[in-house]
Amino acid sequence: AKDNGRNNFQFFTPEMNARVSERLALENNLRQAIARNELFLHYQPQFDLQTGELTGCEALVRWQHPELGLIPPSRFIPVAEDSGLILPLGHWVLREACRQAKAWQDAGLRPIPVAVNLSAVQFRQARLATMIADVLAESGLAPRWLELELTESMLMEDGERHTTALADLKALGVGLALDDFGTGYSSLSYLKRFDLDTLKIDRSFVQSLPDDSEDAALTTAIIGIARQFGLKTVAEGVETEAQRAFLAAQGCTLMQGFLLARPMAGAELAELLETVPA
Ligand code: C2E
Ligand code: CA
Ligand code: CA
Ligand code: CA
Repeated sequence: AKDNGRNNFQFFTPEMNARVSERLALENNLRQAIARNELFLHYQPQFDLQTGELTGCEALVRWQHPELGLIPPSRFIPVAEDSGLILPLGHWVLREACRQAKAWQDAGLRPIPVAVNLSAVQFRQARLATMIADVLAESGLAPRWLELELTESMLMEDGERHTTALADLKALGVGLALDDFGTGYSSLSYLKRFDLDTLKIDRSFVQSLPDDSEDAALTTAIIGIARQFGLKTVAEGVETEAQRAFLAAQGCTLMQGFLLARPMAGAELAELLETVPA
């Protein structure tokens, strides 16, 4: 392990500034990151827009590298997806999120669902539903407290197979959310074909609310159609009081954003749950 450490260090000499070598170095380091306990999860609270109550959270992975410092997921998730490392990484994220959610419940805190992001590569895994069932059983977390976040591009790929894959996940009793809704090749037929629970309205629409009339119209339309389909809506990236007020007035269900809370450690979220009882 010592030797490995030295080799890894040499990847970061100033001469090696090319993108490709950085990516390769990241990949090699990522391989070790799980075993070395360099990955951890933060949890961003979600709040009911009508009552202000903390009613859920999203698990977001973080990588604390010994030399490079904190690496954001936007940099290492794509590397993990290209290299296949997303499978062990995604497995670790699921296990850790379920373990944490169960630990909060065991500590007597009010139960809230935890949402976990799934990569398209994980979604293509043949035994995904079995793997998730195993993780739930191992953690002791009841399926209703886990929500899986999928993206539109995942549903586009291969309709038939995905209908089955989603039905298998749904049969476990977990929640299904469609992430970044409206940014991909959105098709309203998804709402009919797949048994989803939640639409997450992308931050790019929320950002310029309420002044941008097009984004306001889109957001209002998404909330309206979600309601017709019996789906919850989560507005992502809410940063201002004006955005919050607009979304609440439109009947959006939940909000997630820096206005009320940033992603935080599990212990911090536990404190927040304690100070705000049901
Ligand atoms: P996402 O799933 O859309 O996650 C929401 C991102 O928005 C998070 O960034 C969060 O910190 C950020 N965010 C939340 N509220 C606000 C706000 O009010 N303003 C702004 N400017 N940003 C806000 P983060 O944690 O850097 O994650 C980025 C992306 O990385 C995620 O986007 C997701 O696609 C991916 N990701 C994170 N964790 C995982 C994971 O465990 N597995 C997979 N497959 N992807 C992950
Ligand atoms: Ca997400
Ligand atoms: Ca999102
Ligand atoms: Ca987004």
